[in-house]
Amino acid sequence: MTAVARKQLPLRPAGPDTVDALLAWYDEERRDLPWRPKLGRAKSRRRPDPYGVWLSEIMLQQTTVKAVIPYYLRFLSRWPTVEALAAASLDDVLAAWAGLGYYSRARNLYKCAQVVACAHSGRFPETEAELEQLPGVGPYTAAAIAAIAFNEPVTPVDGNVERVVARLFAVCQPLPGAKRELKRLAGTLTPEERPGDFAQAMMDLGAGICTPRRPSCLVCPVQTDCAANARGIQEELPLRAVRAERPLRVGIAFVALREDGYVLVRRRPEAGLLGGMLEVPSTGWDDLMPPAKDALKAAPLKADWWQVPGTVSHTFTHFKLELIVYRALVPADATLTFWAEPDRCRWLARRDLASSALPSVMRKVIAHGLKER
Ligand code: SF4
Repeated sequence: MTAVARKQLPLRPAGPDTVDALLAWYDEERRDLPWRPKLGRAKSRRRPDPYGVWLSEIMLQQTTVKAVIPYYLRFLSRWPTVEALAAASLDDVLAAWAGLGYYSRARNLYKCAQVVACAHSGRFPETEAELEQLPGVGPYTAAAIAAIAFNEPVTPVDGNVERVVARLFAVCQPLPGAKRELKRLAGTLTPEERPGDFAQAMMDLGAGICTPRRPSCLVCPVQTDCAANARGIQEELPLRAVRAERPLRVGIAFVALREDGYVLVRRRPEAGLLGGMLEVPSTGWDDLMPPAKDALKAAPLKADWWQVPGTVSHTFTHFKLELIVYRALVPADATLTFWAEPDRCRWLARRDLASSALPSVMRKVIAHGLKER
Protein backbone atom coordinates (compact mmCIF):
# COMPACT_ATOMS: atom_id res chain seq x y z
CA MET A 1 0.00 0.00 0.00
CA THR A 2 1.42 3.43 -0.92
CA ALA A 3 1.58 6.26 1.55
CA VAL A 4 -1.08 8.13 -0.46
CA ALA A 5 -3.44 5.19 -0.12
CA ARG A 6 -3.06 5.05 3.69
CA LYS A 7 -6.18 6.86 4.92
CA GLN A 8 -6.11 8.57 8.26
CA LEU A 9 -7.89 11.71 9.34
CA PRO A 10 -6.43 14.67 11.24
CA LEU A 11 -7.70 15.25 14.80
CA ARG A 12 -9.80 18.09 13.40
CA PRO A 13 -10.16 19.28 9.80
CA ALA A 14 -8.59 22.61 8.90
CA GLY A 15 -11.03 25.43 9.72
CA PRO A 16 -11.50 28.40 12.09
CA ASP A 17 -9.57 26.68 14.92
CA THR A 18 -6.62 26.28 12.56
CA VAL A 19 -6.70 30.01 11.90
CA ASP A 20 -6.75 30.80 15.64
CA ALA A 21 -3.83 28.44 16.29
CA LEU A 22 -1.86 29.95 13.44
CA LEU A 23 -2.49 33.54 14.57
CA ALA A 24 -1.50 32.70 18.16
CA TRP A 25 1.73 31.20 16.85
CA TYR A 26 2.32 34.22 14.62
CA ASP A 27 1.93 36.59 17.58
CA GLU A 28 4.81 34.82 19.31
CA GLU A 29 7.04 33.68 16.48
CA ARG A 30 6.60 36.06 13.53
CA ARG A 31 9.69 37.01 11.59
CA ASP A 32 11.05 40.46 12.26
CA LEU A 33 11.12 41.95 8.75
CA PRO A 34 11.84 45.59 7.91
CA TRP A 35 8.50 46.09 6.12
CA ARG A 36 6.56 44.89 9.16
CA PRO A 37 5.82 47.44 11.93
CA LYS A 38 7.68 46.71 15.15
CA LEU A 39 5.50 45.16 17.85
CA GLY A 40 5.17 47.33 20.96
CA ARG A 41 5.49 45.88 24.44
CA ALA A 42 1.75 45.25 24.52
CA LYS A 43 2.04 43.65 21.08
CA SER A 44 -0.27 46.34 19.76
CA ARG A 45 -0.82 45.94 16.04
CA ARG A 46 0.08 48.94 13.94
CA ARG A 47 -1.04 49.04 10.33
CA PRO A 48 2.00 48.81 7.99
CA ASP A 49 2.73 51.57 5.49
CA PRO A 50 1.13 50.59 2.12
CA TYR A 51 4.17 51.95 0.27
CA GLY A 52 6.51 49.64 2.20
CA VAL A 53 4.16 46.66 1.74
CA TRP A 54 3.90 47.28 -2.00
CA LEU A 55 7.67 47.79 -2.39
CA SER A 56 8.48 44.62 -0.46
CA GLU A 57 5.88 42.53 -2.29
CA ILE A 58 7.15 43.59 -5.71
CA MET A 59 10.73 42.83 -4.67
CA LEU A 60 9.77 39.47 -3.15
CA GLN A 61 8.28 38.18 -6.42
CA GLN A 62 10.54 35.21 -7.27
CA THR A 63 13.25 36.46 -4.90
CA THR A 64 14.17 35.39 -1.38
CA VAL A 65 13.60 37.50 1.73
CA LYS A 66 17.33 37.46 2.45
CA ALA A 67 18.17 38.87 -0.99
CA VAL A 68 15.41 41.49 -0.81
CA ILE A 69 16.16 43.06 2.61
CA PRO A 70 19.23 45.15 1.62
CA TYR A 71 17.52 46.35 -1.57
CA TYR A 72 14.36 47.25 0.35
CA LEU A 73 16.30 49.24 2.94
CA ARG A 74 18.29 51.07 0.26
CA PHE A 75 15.17 51.95 -1.75
CA LEU A 76 13.34 53.16 1.33
CA SER A 77 16.18 55.32 2.52
CA ARG A 78 16.71 56.82 -0.94
CA TRP A 79 13.01 57.15 -1.85
CA PRO A 80 11.04 57.20 1.42
CA THR A 81 7.66 57.83 -0.22
CA VAL A 82 5.90 56.79 -3.39
CA GLU A 83 6.06 60.41 -4.57
CA ALA A 84 9.84 60.44 -4.12
CA LEU A 85 10.15 57.24 -6.14
CA ALA A 86 7.89 58.63 -8.87
CA ALA A 87 10.12 61.72 -9.12
CA ALA A 88 13.31 59.64 -9.54
CA SER A 89 14.76 58.87 -12.97
CA LEU A 90 14.13 55.44 -14.48
CA ASP A 91 17.88 55.03 -14.87
CA ASP A 92 18.46 55.53 -11.15
CA VAL A 93 15.69 53.06 -10.28
CA LEU A 94 17.03 50.43 -12.68
CA ALA A 95 20.55 50.94 -11.33
CA ALA A 96 19.35 50.55 -7.73
CA TRP A 97 17.48 47.40 -8.77
CA ALA A 98 20.46 45.85 -10.57
CA GLY A 99 21.19 42.37 -9.20
CA LEU A 100 17.61 41.61 -8.07
CA GLY A 101 16.69 40.12 -11.47
CA TYR A 102 13.37 40.06 -13.37
CA TYR A 103 13.91 43.65 -14.44
CA SER A 104 10.44 44.21 -15.84
CA ARG A 105 9.49 44.44 -12.15
CA ALA A 106 11.67 47.54 -11.76
CA ARG A 107 10.15 49.24 -14.79
CA ASN A 108 6.65 48.44 -13.59
CA LEU A 109 7.56 49.56 -10.08
CA TYR A 110 8.51 52.92 -11.50
CA LYS A 111 5.38 53.15 -13.68
CA CYS A 112 3.22 52.16 -10.72
CA ALA A 113 4.81 54.81 -8.49
CA GLN A 114 3.94 57.42 -11.09
CA VAL A 115 0.34 56.22 -11.40
CA VAL A 116 -0.12 56.23 -7.61
CA ALA A 117 1.58 59.61 -7.23
CA CYS A 118 -0.33 61.30 -10.08
CA ALA A 119 -3.65 59.50 -10.54
CA HIS A 120 -4.21 58.61 -6.85
CA SER A 121 -2.61 61.66 -5.18
CA GLY A 122 0.07 59.49 -3.58
CA ARG A 123 -2.35 57.11 -1.85
CA PHE A 124 -2.52 53.44 -2.81
CA PRO A 125 -6.03 52.19 -3.63
CA GLU A 126 -7.33 49.98 -0.82
CA THR A 127 -9.08 47.03 -2.45
CA GLU A 128 -7.71 43.96 -4.17
CA ALA A 129 -9.71 44.76 -7.34
CA GLU A 130 -8.38 48.34 -7.60
CA LEU A 131 -4.83 47.35 -6.72
CA GLU A 132 -4.82 44.81 -9.52
CA GLN A 133 -5.28 47.65 -12.02
CA LEU A 134 -1.86 49.10 -11.13
CA PRO A 135 1.18 48.34 -13.34
CA GLY A 136 3.09 45.28 -12.17
CA VAL A 137 0.52 44.32 -9.55
CA GLY A 138 -0.83 40.84 -10.31
CA PRO A 139 -3.47 38.87 -8.41
CA TYR A 140 -1.07 37.65 -5.70
CA THR A 141 0.48 41.05 -5.03
CA ALA A 142 -2.92 42.80 -5.06
CA ALA A 143 -4.25 40.32 -2.49
CA ALA A 144 -1.11 40.65 -0.35
CA ILE A 145 -1.27 44.47 -0.26
CA ALA A 146 -5.05 44.49 0.29
CA ALA A 147 -4.80 42.04 3.19
CA ILE A 148 -1.62 43.31 4.86
CA ALA A 149 -1.94 47.07 4.36
CA PHE A 150 -5.74 47.45 4.31
CA ASN A 151 -7.07 44.39 6.16
CA GLU A 152 -9.29 43.22 3.30
CA PRO A 153 -10.28 39.58 3.98
CA VAL A 154 -8.44 38.00 1.05
CA THR A 155 -5.57 35.52 1.07
CA PRO A 156 -2.63 35.90 -1.29
CA VAL A 157 -1.66 32.47 -2.60
CA ASP A 158 1.92 31.97 -3.77
CA GLY A 159 4.05 28.83 -3.92
CA ASN A 160 4.58 28.78 -0.14
CA VAL A 161 0.88 29.09 0.62
CA GLU A 162 0.00 26.52 -2.06
CA ARG A 163 2.30 24.06 -0.33
CA VAL A 164 0.83 24.68 3.12
CA VAL A 165 -2.75 24.43 1.85
CA ALA A 166 -2.01 21.30 -0.23
CA ARG A 167 -0.72 19.66 2.93
CA LEU A 168 -3.36 20.93 5.35
CA PHE A 169 -6.10 19.55 3.09
CA ALA A 170 -4.07 16.67 1.59
CA VAL A 171 -4.74 17.81 -1.98
CA CYS A 172 -3.32 15.10 -4.24
CA GLN A 173 -4.07 16.77 -7.58
CA PRO A 174 -0.75 17.92 -9.14
CA LEU A 175 0.23 21.53 -9.73
CA PRO A 176 -0.28 23.61 -11.79
CA GLY A 177 -3.74 22.06 -12.36
CA ALA A 178 -4.49 22.23 -8.62
CA LYS A 179 -3.97 26.02 -8.39
CA ARG A 180 -7.64 26.96 -8.52
CA GLU A 181 -8.61 24.40 -5.88
CA LEU A 182 -5.76 25.47 -3.59
CA LYS A 183 -6.85 29.10 -3.90
CA ARG A 184 -10.41 28.12 -3.09
CA LEU A 185 -9.32 26.14 -0.02
CA ALA A 186 -7.10 29.01 1.16
CA GLY A 187 -10.17 31.23 0.82
CA THR A 188 -12.15 28.95 3.14
CA LEU A 189 -9.62 29.70 5.90
CA THR A 190 -9.33 33.49 5.36
CA PRO A 191 -10.66 35.21 8.50
CA GLU A 192 -12.68 38.45 8.59
CA GLU A 193 -10.55 39.57 11.56
CA ARG A 194 -6.81 39.99 11.02
CA PRO A 195 -6.63 38.75 7.39
CA GLY A 196 -3.30 40.55 6.96
CA ASP A 197 -1.76 38.75 9.91
CA PHE A 198 -3.24 35.48 8.69
CA ALA A 199 -1.66 36.00 5.25
CA GLN A 200 1.72 36.73 6.84
CA ALA A 201 1.36 33.81 9.24
CA MET A 202 0.83 31.48 6.26
CA MET A 203 3.91 33.00 4.60
CA ASP A 204 6.00 32.52 7.75
CA LEU A 205 4.76 28.97 8.26
CA GLY A 206 5.63 28.09 4.66
CA ALA A 207 9.05 29.75 4.88
CA GLY A 208 10.17 28.37 8.23
CA ILE A 209 8.22 25.23 9.21
CA CYS A 210 6.18 23.81 6.35
CA THR A 211 9.24 23.86 4.11
CA PRO A 212 9.42 22.11 0.72
CA ARG A 213 11.65 19.35 2.09
CA ARG A 214 11.46 17.88 5.57
CA PRO A 215 8.71 20.07 7.06
CA SER A 216 9.07 20.47 10.83
CA CYS A 217 5.69 18.96 11.66
CA LEU A 218 6.60 18.30 15.30
CA VAL A 219 6.76 22.03 16.04
CA CYS A 220 4.01 23.05 13.65
CA PRO A 221 1.20 25.03 15.30
CA VAL A 222 -1.44 23.38 13.09
CA GLN A 223 -0.20 19.81 13.11
CA THR A 224 -3.39 18.48 14.66
CA ASP A 225 -5.39 19.93 11.74
CA CYS A 226 -3.12 18.73 8.97
CA ALA A 227 -4.55 15.98 6.76
CA ALA A 228 -1.23 15.29 5.02
CA ASN A 229 0.54 14.85 8.34
CA ALA A 230 -2.19 12.51 9.57
CA ARG A 231 -1.61 10.34 6.53
CA GLY A 232 2.17 10.66 6.60
CA ILE A 233 2.26 12.08 3.06
CA GLN A 234 3.41 15.65 3.81
CA GLU A 235 6.76 15.25 2.06
CA GLU A 236 5.04 14.03 -1.10
CA LEU A 237 2.87 17.15 -1.40
CA PRO A 238 2.29 19.25 -3.34
CA LEU A 239 2.50 16.96 -6.37
CA ARG A 240 3.78 18.55 -9.56
CA ALA A 241 3.30 17.70 -13.21
CA VAL A 242 6.65 16.88 -14.84
CA ARG A 243 8.23 20.07 -16.19
CA ALA A 244 9.96 20.28 -19.55
CA GLU A 245 13.72 21.01 -19.52
CA ARG A 246 14.69 24.62 -20.16
CA PRO A 247 16.09 25.01 -23.70
CA LEU A 248 19.69 26.19 -24.15
CA ARG A 249 20.47 29.38 -26.09
CA VAL A 250 23.96 30.45 -27.05
CA GLY A 251 25.72 33.52 -28.40
CA ILE A 252 28.85 35.67 -28.46
CA ALA A 253 29.26 38.80 -26.31
CA PHE A 254 31.76 41.60 -26.96
CA VAL A 255 33.52 43.36 -24.10
CA ALA A 256 35.30 46.42 -25.51
CA LEU A 257 37.61 48.17 -23.05
CA ARG A 258 38.91 51.61 -23.96
CA GLU A 259 42.50 52.50 -23.08
CA ASP A 260 41.22 55.16 -20.69
CA GLY A 261 39.28 52.57 -18.68
CA TYR A 262 35.78 52.82 -20.20
CA VAL A 263 33.64 49.83 -21.23
CA LEU A 264 31.19 49.86 -24.14
CA VAL A 265 27.58 49.26 -23.05
CA ARG A 266 24.28 49.45 -24.88
CA ARG A 267 20.72 50.06 -23.71
CA ARG A 268 18.38 47.12 -24.46
CA PRO A 269 15.02 47.89 -26.07
CA GLU A 270 12.30 48.81 -23.55
CA ALA A 271 10.08 45.84 -24.41
CA GLY A 272 11.09 42.25 -23.78
CA LEU A 273 13.67 40.42 -21.72
CA LEU A 274 15.85 42.69 -19.52
CA GLY A 275 14.04 45.62 -21.18
CA GLY A 276 15.69 49.01 -20.67
CA MET A 277 18.71 47.50 -18.89
CA LEU A 278 22.30 47.85 -20.05
CA GLU A 279 24.23 45.11 -21.84
CA VAL A 280 27.44 44.65 -23.72
CA PRO A 281 26.77 44.18 -27.45
CA SER A 282 26.33 40.57 -28.46
CA THR A 283 25.08 38.39 -31.29
CA GLY A 284 21.52 37.12 -31.00
CA TRP A 285 20.88 34.39 -28.42
CA ASP A 286 19.90 31.40 -30.55
CA ASP A 287 19.88 27.60 -30.61
CA LEU A 288 23.18 27.40 -32.52
CA MET A 289 26.44 29.25 -31.90
CA PRO A 290 27.21 31.52 -34.88
CA PRO A 291 30.58 30.81 -36.57
CA ALA A 292 33.20 33.08 -34.95
CA LYS A 293 34.18 34.50 -38.37
CA ASP A 294 30.63 35.76 -39.04
CA ALA A 295 30.15 36.96 -35.49
CA LEU A 296 33.35 39.02 -35.55
CA LYS A 297 32.19 40.75 -38.72
CA ALA A 298 29.20 41.94 -36.68
CA ALA A 299 31.33 43.11 -33.73
CA PRO A 300 30.57 46.63 -32.41
CA LEU A 301 33.97 47.96 -33.49
CA LYS A 302 36.86 46.94 -35.65
CA ALA A 303 39.53 45.71 -33.25
CA ASP A 304 41.84 42.89 -32.41
CA TRP A 305 39.23 40.68 -30.69
CA TRP A 306 40.49 37.93 -28.42
CA GLN A 307 38.38 35.02 -27.15
CA VAL A 308 38.42 34.81 -23.35
CA PRO A 309 38.78 31.14 -22.31
CA GLY A 310 35.66 29.56 -20.80
CA THR A 311 32.00 30.56 -21.12
CA VAL A 312 29.44 32.47 -19.07
CA SER A 313 26.25 30.61 -18.11
CA HIS A 314 23.04 32.09 -16.80
CA THR A 315 19.61 30.61 -16.17
CA PHE A 316 16.51 32.61 -17.03
CA THR A 317 12.98 31.45 -16.23
CA HIS A 318 12.39 29.96 -19.68
CA PHE A 319 15.85 29.15 -20.98
CA LYS A 320 19.50 28.69 -20.13
CA LEU A 321 22.06 30.94 -21.76
CA GLU A 322 25.69 30.21 -22.55
CA LEU A 323 27.85 33.02 -23.91
CA ILE A 324 31.34 33.01 -25.34
CA VAL A 325 33.05 36.32 -24.57
CA TYR A 326 35.38 38.23 -26.89
CA ARG A 327 37.37 41.14 -25.61
CA ALA A 328 39.34 43.96 -27.22
CA LEU A 329 41.40 46.88 -25.96
CA VAL A 330 40.59 49.88 -28.16
CA PRO A 331 41.85 53.48 -28.46
CA ALA A 332 39.92 56.33 -26.81
CA ASP A 333 38.76 57.61 -30.23
CA ALA A 334 37.51 54.20 -31.47
CA THR A 335 34.52 54.44 -33.83
CA LEU A 336 31.53 52.14 -33.51
CA THR A 337 30.31 50.11 -36.48
CA PHE A 338 26.76 50.10 -37.79
CA TRP A 339 26.23 46.75 -36.00
CA ALA A 340 26.78 48.32 -32.59
CA GLU A 341 23.59 50.41 -33.03
CA PRO A 342 25.54 53.50 -31.87
CA ASP A 343 22.41 55.44 -30.82
CA ARG A 344 21.89 53.01 -27.97
CA CYS A 345 25.58 52.74 -26.98
CA ARG A 346 27.70 54.65 -24.54
CA TRP A 347 31.03 54.26 -22.77
CA LEU A 348 30.85 53.62 -19.05
CA ALA A 349 33.77 54.13 -16.65
CA ARG A 350 34.84 50.87 -14.98
CA ARG A 351 34.36 52.47 -11.57
CA ASP A 352 30.66 53.12 -12.43
CA LEU A 353 29.88 49.55 -13.50
CA ALA A 354 28.83 48.44 -10.00
CA SER A 355 26.23 51.19 -9.63
CA SER A 356 24.76 51.02 -13.14
CA ALA A 357 21.68 49.22 -14.50
CA LEU A 358 23.52 46.08 -15.53
CA PRO A 359 21.60 42.83 -14.97
CA SER A 360 23.39 39.92 -13.28
CA VAL A 361 24.08 38.11 -16.53
CA MET A 362 25.89 41.17 -17.95
CA ARG A 363 27.85 41.67 -14.74
CA LYS A 364 29.07 38.09 -15.14
CA VAL A 365 29.94 38.70 -18.81
CA ILE A 366 31.91 41.88 -18.05
CA ALA A 367 33.72 40.30 -15.09
CA HIS A 368 34.64 37.35 -17.32
CA GLY A 369 35.68 39.66 -20.18
CA LEU A 370 37.87 41.81 -17.98
CA LYS A 371 39.68 38.89 -16.34
CA GLU A 372 43.44 39.18 -16.53
CA ARG A 373 44.94 37.06 -19.32
FE1 SF4 B 1 3.12 21.47 7.06
FE2 SF4 B 1 3.69 19.48 8.73
FE3 SF4 B 1 2.41 21.63 9.59
FE4 SF4 B 1 1.19 19.92 8.00
S1 SF4 B 1 1.94 19.53 10.06
S2 SF4 B 1 1.14 22.13 7.83
S3 SF4 B 1 2.88 19.30 6.67
S4 SF4 B 1 4.51 21.53 8.81
